[in-house]
Amino acid sequence: MRVLIIGAGILGASAAYHLASQGVEVEIVDEAHQGKATMAGAGIVCPWATKADEPDWYRMYAAGARFYDGLIEGLKAKGETDLGYGKVGALVVAEDRAEFDAAAERVARRVKDAPEAGTVRHLTPAEARTLFPPLREDLDAIHIPGAARVDARLLSAAMVRAAVAMGAKFRSDYVTLKLDGDRARCLDSNGTEIAADEIIVTAGAWASQILRPLGLDHPVVPQKGQIVHLRLPGVATAKWPVVLPMSSHYMLAFDDSRVVIGATRENNSGFDYRVTAAGEYEVLGAGLNIAPGLANATLIETRIGFRPAGETMNPILGRVPGIANLTLGNGLGAGGLTIGPFAGAQLARVVTGQATDIPLDRYAPQGRG
Ligand SMILES: Cc1cc2nc3c(=O)[nH]c(=O)nc-3n(C[C@H](O)[C@H](O)[C@H](O)COP(=O)(O)OP(=O)(O)OC[C@H]3O[C@@H](n4cnc5c(N)ncnc54)[C@H](O)[C@@H]3O)c2cc1C
Repeated sequence: MRVLIIGAGILGASAAYHLASQGVEVEIVDEAHQGKATMAGAGIVCPWATKADEPDWYRMYAAGARFYDGLIEGLKAKGETDLGYGKVGALVVAEDRAEFDAAAERVARRVKDAPEAGTVRHLTPAEARTLFPPLREDLDAIHIPGAARVDARLLSAAMVRAAVAMGAKFRSDYVTLKLDGDRARCLDSNGTEIAADEIIVTAGAWASQILRPLGLDHPVVPQKGQIVHLRLPGVATAKWPVVLPMSSHYMLAFDDSRVVIGATRENNSGFDYRVTAAGEYEVLGAGLNIAPGLANATLIETRIGFRPAGETMNPILGRVPGIANLTLGNGLGAGGLTIGPFAGAQLARVVTGQATDIPLDRYAPQGRG
């Protein structure tokens, strides 16, 4: 069987890696659009503190985090060590005491079923600042040692590289789909068909565009995120934990003295690939309010990504009704770097006719109207 994967963000890269691992013949095509979400995403893997409570979405979010350890081990066994992954832990903080207590209750309830979260502890403000020194002096924290951060640029590149090492083909191109009876056919940018028995569309925020000629009214739209990268010259930040202030903003750190503050969630900006004054102001204001010790950091870049946002929070995963050879993975929204590797492995199982690790009926794509 020959499987064509359209889109090599975290989701397509994972599907390719898992299919190639099973010996399936795979071709991956990726246009790498400006604003590809996987290139901009923060990389927090910590499902246990979120305020969002939708059970179907949370099941997928938690399964995504649980999946990571095995994925990282598997990639390392294949010689892929540059993954930007670290179990650095997370500090959950809140300015409001009632909000902090609610978060503590939520985390305690959720980690009961998640040994990978580690032993959760309440830290005093001084203890929290030994782990994340720029933090404000008055914030207690809930410490979740099993939380992680990942550089999704490195991880997705590693999954594609590993797939290619196992025989997959990769090409940079913009492709289109057309309908032929009850099957989809894929054309490259020269109009030449790319032969495939099965097609998987993992095209992120651009999925609605490629699916439209098939008569599919796909509900996913771009949600713009602006995310700020700072440098603290000479400071060893590699082991700093993620900071989750129970708002839509957060902080995390990487190896190269880099601290990241995220992110805006802009629902009506379309594919507007620009850093805006309001976006920068919002993110820096939220970050410096929680971590004033970052005030003197160097502002090195602001990344922009378009989250693939559906009508509900749930990802959309599975075979497309009415089109015999088409499988869709999309709608990962703000949790895609957590959910993506697990979801990609599920797409690989769908296409090869294996049972999925959790039932996917609740996440099924819509068919042709
Ligand atoms: C600022 C920001 C912060 C985030 N932080 C986190 C976080 O901390 N934790 C977390 O879990 N998630 C986070 N996310 C969410 C996460 O980044 C996304 O959900 C995830 O990256 C989506 O992956 P994807 O593979 O579906 O899409 P993408 O990464 O967007 O990849 C889609 C790919 O498909 C290609 N494509 C589309 N159409 C075509 C075509 N016709 N031909 C060829 N190629 C095509 C595109 O060029 C692109 O490369 C964040 C997102 C943003 C924007």
